[in-house]
Parts: sequence; C-alpha cells; structure tokens
Amino acid sequence: TPVIWWVRRDLRLTDNPALHAACATGRPVIPVYVLDPLDEQMGAAPKFRLGLGMEALSRALQNRGSDLVLRRGDAHTVVSQLAQETGAKEVFAARAYHPDEIARDLQVQDALDHIGVAPRWHAGRLLFDPYTVKTAAGGFFKVFTPFWKAVRPLGIAACLSDPSRIPAPRHWPISGRLEDWNLASSMNRGAQVVLRYCQVGEAAALDRLHQFTDEQIASYGNDRDLPGQDATSRLSQNLTWGEISPRQMWHSGQVAMAQGRPGAETFLKQLVWREFAYHLMVHTPHILTENWRAGWERFPWLGEEAESARIWQRGQTGVDFVDAAMRELYTTGYMHNRLRMITASYLCKHLMVHWKIGMKWFEDCLVDWDPACNAMGWQWVAGSGPDAAPFFRVFNPERQRDRFDPKQTYLQRWIAEGQTHPPQTATDFFDAIPYQWRMTPADLRPDPVISLAQGRARALDAYKSLSK
Ligand code: FAD
Repeated sequence: TPVIWWVRRDLRLTDNPALHAACATGRPVIPVYVLDPLDEQMGAAPKFRLGLGMEALSRALQNRGSDLVLRRGDAHTVVSQLAQETGAKEVFAARAYHPDEIARDLQVQDALDHIGVAPRWHAGRLLFDPYTVKTAAGGFFKVFTPFWKAVRPLGIAACLSDPSRIPAPRHWPISGRLEDWNLASSMNRGAQVVLRYCQVGEAAALDRLHQFTDEQIASYGNDRDLPGQDATSRLSQNLTWGEISPRQMWHSGQVAMAQGRPGAETFLKQLVWREFAYHLMVHTPHILTENWRAGWERFPWLGEEAESARIWQRGQTGVDFVDAAMRELYTTGYMHNRLRMITASYLCKHLMVHWKIGMKWFEDCLVDWDPACNAMGWQWVAGSGPDAAPFFRVFNPERQRDRFDPKQTYLQRWIAEGQTHPPQTATDFFDAIPYQWRMTPADLRPDPVISLAQGRARALDAYKSLSK
C-alpha cells in the first residue's frame, strides 16, 4: 500500500524532511495538494503565486515518474478520503505554525486517528523549533537581539539530499486540474505583468541562491539597503512557498562566511528575523490581528474609508519614493525591504491610516506573503509591536530617498511620469492596473495630501494624546 505526502507550503523535492521520510518507507508515494478554505481566502497575488508554484512542482514530480494529485475541500475530509481510497496508512506533512493551520492540522489528525491512519509531522519550514527556543527563565523572546544570540550557536543539521526515487503507485487516484482551479483569475488585474517578474520553482530558487552567494553576499552588509541595486537574495517568494528551505539558505550563508565574505553574517541574521517572526506568532498569535502592545486601541487611526489609503495603494500620494515602491509592489508582487518600512511608516504615521489596512493590502499584493513576517513588519513600523521602532522615529521619505537612492535609480525605474523615455518597468505599472484607476504615464503627478512636516507633527500629537 502507498503512503501520502501531503504537500503544503513546501513545494520542493530537496531538503524536504516530510518527503524524505515518505520515500524512506520504501512504499509508493502519492503527493497531494489540497486547496483548502485557508488557501481560498488568501489575497490575489499569493493565490496566483501558489498556482505557479504548484505547476512547477507538478512538472518536477512528473520528470521523476511521479505526479501531483490535486484535490479541493476541507483538508480533514479530503485527506482522510484519499487515505481510504488508496489504502494508505501513513500521511507525511511538514509542520505548520499559523494558528489557523494548527487548528486545521488538529482536525486532520483527529480524522486520521479515527480511521487508523498515522499522521507523520516533520520540520522543514523553519531553522529552529519555535517551541524549544527559550529564554534563560524558560519563557519566549520578545526582543530580537537576545533571540539571535540564543539561536546563533545552535547547530543546524545538514540538508537532506534530493530523493533519488519517488516510487509511483500502480494506480493514480483521480486528480483535479490546475487550470480548472483558476488560481490565476484570482488576480483580477495584470497577472501577466506580475508573472514576468516572478521567480518560480525549486530549480530557479537554487540557481538564484548560488548566484547570490557567489556574486552578491560579500557586499550584502553594505548594499542591502539600496533599492536601486540588485543586492539582496530576492528569495523571499521561494522561501514563502517552500521552493527552497531556510536550511539551504543558512548553509550557503555559512559556506560564504567560511570563505571570508563579509556580508554573510548579516544575511544569516536576516534569515533569523523570519524565525523570530514565527517565534512571536506561535507564542503571541494576537500579533496577527491586534495591536501586540496594549494601549494602542486608543490611537486615532483612520479606517478603511480613508481616501488617503486609496491613493497610497495606487502609488498616487505625490511623495515620489513612496509611490515608486507602491508601484513596484503592484507591478511585481515584491517590494524592497527598506521601502516596505518607508511606505508602511508613511501610511501609519503621515497619513494616520491603521496598520491593519496596510497589512491587508500587502497580503493582497505580495507574492512572498507570509503572515508572520507581514504582521511583525507592520507592527514594528507602527510602533505597536514587540521590539518595535519607537513611534516618534518617523521615516522622512525624502531624506530616505536622498540617502538610499542618491542617483534616483530606483525612482526612475518605477515612476514614468515626467520621463521622456521611461523604462519598461515604469510603464508596466500602467499595464498592470485596472481600468477603473484611470491613470496614464502622461498624467501630472499629484500634490501630497499633507506636507511631510505637517504629517509628522500631526502623528506625534496623536501619539502624545495616547500617553495622557
Ligand atoms: P534578503 O535581504 O535577501 O533576506 C533573506 C531572507 O531573510 C528573506 O527572504 C526573508 O525570508 C528573511 N528576511 C529578511 N528581512 C526580514 C525581515 N525584516 N523580517 C522577516 N524576515 C526577513 N517578508 C516576507 O517574506 N513576507 C512578507 O509578507 C513580509 N512583509 C513585510 C511587511 C513589512 C511592513 C516589512 C517592513 C517587512 C516585511 N517582510 C516580509 C520582510 C522583508 O521585507 C522581506 O523578507 C524581504 O524584503 C525579502 O527580500 P529578500 O528575499 O531579497 O531578502
């Protein structure tokens, strides 16, 4: 009888503990993806990107004489039904950490227990188990630096190799068709544009990792804040969908360190920020939905109805660095980290719009959407999160532009208006936006809704009223 590999956000064959263990049983393996209600609720760009990732994994499996079975519905029903249909007695899957995923997996576990099938949960999403990393007092970490110091010396096992054989079952169970799921149509806007900028699949991710560690990691420490340069790994979308493992990235970083490349340690540290986000999500899941720190409920944020939220989303604030970044996001499904901080700060502080509205927009637009990193990032910027930037430290987008994009390389890449021969990146934005936005490259740039000085002063006044 076969075993089941239940594929989730781990769309890869190498260094995949769940798949490895399934193959080690020596039985035929049935890989299955279940499009469940949690997937159905995702934002447009992540859903679209998931479809691309599944397509790539299907091809990789078919190249090895295997396949990816597609099913849709509640995971507990679908997975137990498949086990019954195929006679499988074991289901292998990578452990998940989001509270909704944990609840789903408990239901699946119950359903499988009920029919005498054993679920086998494996690590793979993270470097460090968020439950076992503890402070000296036995609690969890709320501040990054001590977390980093605690995990840095921990040993990390070597990567698992690509399973040389994925034995196929004699009969394949019925499968849905990816085309029928129409994941691309969830992108009710320029999907074809975003597609051009995506880096999809395990092979592309590993190529990029090698290129990055050969060519860029040495200067990562100095250049990673310069959005005009290709200085960061750009592997977040692959990591999010599990097309690469954090362990593969960690070990490549370690090799680069051993070769004396100076930026390597900074790169490892950034990888650990992702671990910290998961650690916080596991121990304080309210970070996903509520102000992490008490007291912030009284802050006079503007809500959904704010027109300023709309102009921010559309890259129409009149503040060029902010608009360039919002356009990069909409056109490519990605935004440089420094600009994520600047655009988030501008929304929450200068425009005083609630961080939840910004977080939701990112969720709809990012192909690397990760609920833990997104929530931590937003609450960090807003000031309501753990180890957050103090509220009074308001990013000035003009000063940030002059410092981090002195030649305006990034700006010109994304703002077409005012350029006689704008680059394709800048005009791609106009191909990606919906007709209803009615924007053209010939438009005049709008005036900012509020000056940077006034916006800052207003935000600081509101903040003072909190402490009264
Ligand atoms: P690199 O600089 O090459 O870093 C390598 C890896 O380390 C990244 O791929 C990522 O997995 C991790 N990493 C780096 N910086 C951070 C960070 N600050 N926090 C957590 N992990 C980090 N990242 C996401 O993956 N998904 C999100 O939805 C997301 N939302 C964010 C929202 C806001 C408001 C902010 C400020 C940050 C957010 N980040 C998010 C973190 C960060 O911006 C991206 O991980 C990074 O820009 C990805 O680019 P890269 O792969 O080139 O990163």
